[in-house]
Amino acid sequence: MKRIYGLETEYGIAFTAGDSRRLGPEEVARYLFRPVVEWGRSSNVFLPNGARLYLDVGSHPEYATAECDRLDDLIAQDAAGDAILTDLLARAQSALEADGHDGRAHLVKNNTDAQGNSYGSHENLLVRRSMDFSHLTSVLLPFLVTRQLLVGAGALIPTRPSLQAPLAETNRAAPQQEPGVAAGAAGGSRTFGLSARSDVMWEGLSSATTRSRPIINARDEPHADAEKYRRLHVIVGDSSMLQATTELKVGTAILVLDLIESGVPMGDRSLRHPIRDIRMVSRDLTGRTALESASGGTTSALALQSVYLEHATRLVERGDHSLGDDAVAHRVIDRWRRMIEALEAGDTSPMAGEIDWVLKKTLMDRYLARSGADWDDPRLTRLDVAYHDITPGVGLLGPLAASGRTARVVDDEAITAARSTPPATTRAALRGRFVEAAHAARRDFTVDWVHLRLNDQSHRAVVLKDPFAPVSERAEAVIDALVDEAPSSSV
Ligand code: ATP
Ligand code: MG
Ligand code: MG
Repeated sequence: MKRIYGLETEYGIAFTAGDSRRLGPEEVARYLFRPVVEWGRSSNVFLPNGARLYLDVGSHPEYATAECDRLDDLIAQDAAGDAILTDLLARAQSALEADGHDGRAHLVKNNTDAQGNSYGSHENLLVRRSMDFSHLTSVLLPFLVTRQLLVGAGALIPTRPSLQAPLAETNRAAPQQEPGVAAGAAGGSRTFGLSARSDVMWEGLSSATTRSRPIINARDEPHADAEKYRRLHVIVGDSSMLQATTELKVGTAILVLDLIESGVPMGDRSLRHPIRDIRMVSRDLTGRTALESASGGTTSALALQSVYLEHATRLVERGDHSLGDDAVAHRVIDRWRRMIEALEAGDTSPMAGEIDWVLKKTLMDRYLARSGADWDDPRLTRLDVAYHDITPGVGLLGPLAASGRTARVVDDEAITAARSTPPATTRAALRGRFVEAAHAARRDFTVDWVHLRLNDQSHRAVVLKDPFAPVSERAEAVIDALVDEAPSSSV
């Protein structure tokens, strides 16, 4: 079985001022993107590794990986994004200092900014159009509501969730009909939860992404043959810090789609109150809180995840998965199982080197014990941000990784390669070579997920409608001509 997938990650920008004027995110973003604009004459570019790098609204840099059909490629391409951005950050820092700004620019992958805006990570997953969509969502939604138990980033959240939908959305928001959770983040007292994003999800499925955020965005933009495919846009996930968490997060979602598409009978797993439940699940680190099933009776996050795991295990044993590599598939299943077993045993500490929320909780517990602080202490907020800080020499994870206390999934060599090399087995291979060649030949070009265009021949765009196809005669002819043109090759 084959599938295309890509991961978008939004980053937060912060500036800690020294003596000089405090800089806003827009100003820091301009410094950060200066080399990008010099290279590609835009702050929205496709890179030689096939990825897209752009400045999103609200000064959030975003890196969207190239299309992958192997999970190990995806992890490498995603990690390459972090590496590219930390390099840009180092250059921005030097430029800021040269301009007399005394302070430090930071990049964080922390899913929520200081204003409480939520941003994060979008998973893009190709599914066949022939799949019955309501069946697909009925199996996928309960999985996504409870997946945070495995792969949440961990968050300091109000002890009681707010069920007041933002602004004018109150009429549409489902939780109004959902009993059981008191409205309003009363008292403001905090607790440690699995995911901050759970509190900003207001619908299971919808085509809006801003106010009324859905778990799955139904916007129908497949970037491929629309008659054959859909691109699912899962926006409930946290961006992950640990590679092992990223791998488990995306790997399990892919396996659940594999289960659905291979027709494995999964029974009706729908939850009666998914939007209430996602908040409850986030506030229960044991996974045992009772959740009402739509078909009657109760279940729990732990029970649901165990069911999905059992089905996925059999699928992987048959080799019937779209992770691209059996060893990787077994690794995903193994980690999934170990996490479930740790939860069942009531001790997740063995997973601290692999799972973000477990590691963050361990670090915070240690801090609480040492300092006597409680969950409301602002120093914990700083610790939380530091966990997600990818600024070299600043974040909490650098030293832990350096001393081997966190698991690695791809090595530095693979990440370095992925910075400049696209995945070899999807159309991204053609895009990457085109971008590289057009740039070397100093030609103006325009690229999107489906098209490659030289601006002076814009009527003759190459169309790459099949994301699975790493070869195309037309594309290769254009690329070869560009390579012949490039100044370096004429020496
Ligand atoms: P935006 O984020 O600007 O709203 P968008 O959702 O199209 O737009 P991009 O940031 O452009 O998102 O990223 C698209 C992501 O989808 C990339 O990670 C890419 O690899 C992936 N992708 C592209 N084509 C497909 C496809 N056919 N199926 C699944 N994923 C795809
Ligand atoms: Mg995007
Ligand atoms: Mg997107």
